[in-house]
Amino acid sequence: MLRSFSTTARNATKTAKHDVVVIGGGPGGYVAAIKAAQLGFNTACIEKRGALGGTCLNVGCIPSKALLNNSHLFHQVKHEASKRGIDISGDVKPNLGNLMKAKETAVKQLTGGIEMLFKKNGVTYYKGNGSFVDEHQVKVDPIDGSEDSILTANNIIIATGSEPSPFPGIEIDQEKIVDSTGALSLKEIPKRLAIIGGGIIGLEMGSVWSRLGSEVTVLEFQKAIGGAGMDAEVSKATQKFLSKQGLKFQLGAKVVSAVKNSNGEVDIEFEDTKSGKIEKIQADVLLVAVGRRPYSSNLNAEKIGLDFDKRNRVVIDSEYKTKFSHIQCIGDVTFGPMLAHKAEEEGIAAVEYIKTGHGHVNYGNIPAVMYSHPEVAWTGKNEEELKEAGIKYKTGKFPFIANSRAKTNMDTEGFVKFIADAETQRVLGVHIIGPNAGEMIAEAGLAIEYGASCEDIYRTCHAHPTLSEAFKEAAMAVFDKPVNF
Ligand code: FAD
Repeated sequence: MLRSFSTTARNATKTAKHDVVVIGGGPGGYVAAIKAAQLGFNTACIEKRGALGGTCLNVGCIPSKALLNNSHLFHQVKHEASKRGIDISGDVKPNLGNLMKAKETAVKQLTGGIEMLFKKNGVTYYKGNGSFVDEHQVKVDPIDGSEDSILTANNIIIATGSEPSPFPGIEIDQEKIVDSTGALSLKEIPKRLAIIGGGIIGLEMGSVWSRLGSEVTVLEFQKAIGGAGMDAEVSKATQKFLSKQGLKFQLGAKVVSAVKNSNGEVDIEFEDTKSGKIEKIQADVLLVAVGRRPYSSNLNAEKIGLDFDKRNRVVIDSEYKTKFSHIQCIGDVTFGPMLAHKAEEEGIAAVEYIKTGHGHVNYGNIPAVMYSHPEVAWTGKNEEELKEAGIKYKTGKFPFIANSRAKTNMDTEGFVKFIADAETQRVLGVHIIGPNAGEMIAEAGLAIEYGASCEDIYRTCHAHPTLSEAFKEAAMAVFDKPVNF
């Protein structure tokens, strides 16, 4: 576990040796680095962004949730205060400057927090771009332009993440035509916001700006919103609730072009795939939210001949090993859903494989959450997947309108839906649309992980009055009958 550090005068290149070098300081990389250090490895993490936390903390999960939370609060105060017994004198207005400041404070505190965790756990942090020199050496080009370093490592973990997928022919300027990063930092509230893509990122950003006053139109190529994995019934309900909030949806819309005109607006043309007609709309800002793609530029991976698949994902085995057993890869840059918690789980498992030869991630039980209002969350299988696999199942549902806490909170949209094995009633999937769905889904995760049946949940005492009683009652709806509906 010795660490050596020297400077060679000839080319002013520093050298160092580490047991584990992690390239990328996002949720996959920073978690892997901390866990490796905790397990006794001399560990380094290379991050070129200038801040730790990756996409998630800097331009993803955290800033979007800050905007979602505060825009929801604004929406509630503006539209619901009086019926909740709060009289507000004067106009309730959003203050975009302060909204952005609150977002930036959250980001700064959390990214700074990881730097402190690195110090606490003894992880060496290199602020720069990491690239392969050979199979055991990684070069760091520091972002401050100082002398570079060559790190020699017994184990290397690639965690370089992803970036927004471009839309062919549409140019992002981050002002009028933006990707998710631009949509998190608009300088004014657009009167009309068009969004290409009705997946989670598009709908979350659409919710933020709609609450703040934008007229939002979502153009989605598929016939349903929410993207892969969202249960069809939940997707329909989501569309209904978001439409009620004012978002407009054009499904089956194949965008053909989007260009800025001389008035500073964006002209968008799309084909209605049902009628074959070309339709035109205008927006003040267009958000392109058509997914993300793996990122491995400037890694010099070709130098060592790493394998990539057709979608540019690094090819790995079940232990996260690339073609070289000491080079692993985790997170968005390889297979699986592009989610922060999936990357984190893989970070821990990859390091445990190095240390003990064992690791564990259950890819059948990775929760997905959309932080709209109501929230949407699910884990396990949906009905469509089970039908395709020919598995017989039963469903049970409980609406929040019949839940005492939801009623008390005046927040009753949505339902909990259980999908269980038809014979054993083992929980196969849980799909929730409703208040705090993102928190409640953790209970479903535990149930699936430990092979619980609906009866197990039915016989577990849930506190009253809580939203989680709706969870229990949905399980009862599979096993027996719900009491309160
Ligand atoms: P990343 O977070 O992308 O981190 C990779 C890091 O590696 C980057 O910081 C990059 O600078 C660095 N890097 C790349 N190449 C090099 C190199 N050669 N040298 C040094 N450093 C390098 N997921 C959720 O689970 N929940 C959410 O609510 C959620 N919301 C999102 C909202 C938005 C708007 C977006 C865009 C994403 C959201 N995601 C969410 C997805 C989540 O951010 C990603 O799945 C997650 O960040 C992936 O983690 P990662 O560690 O694999 O990669």
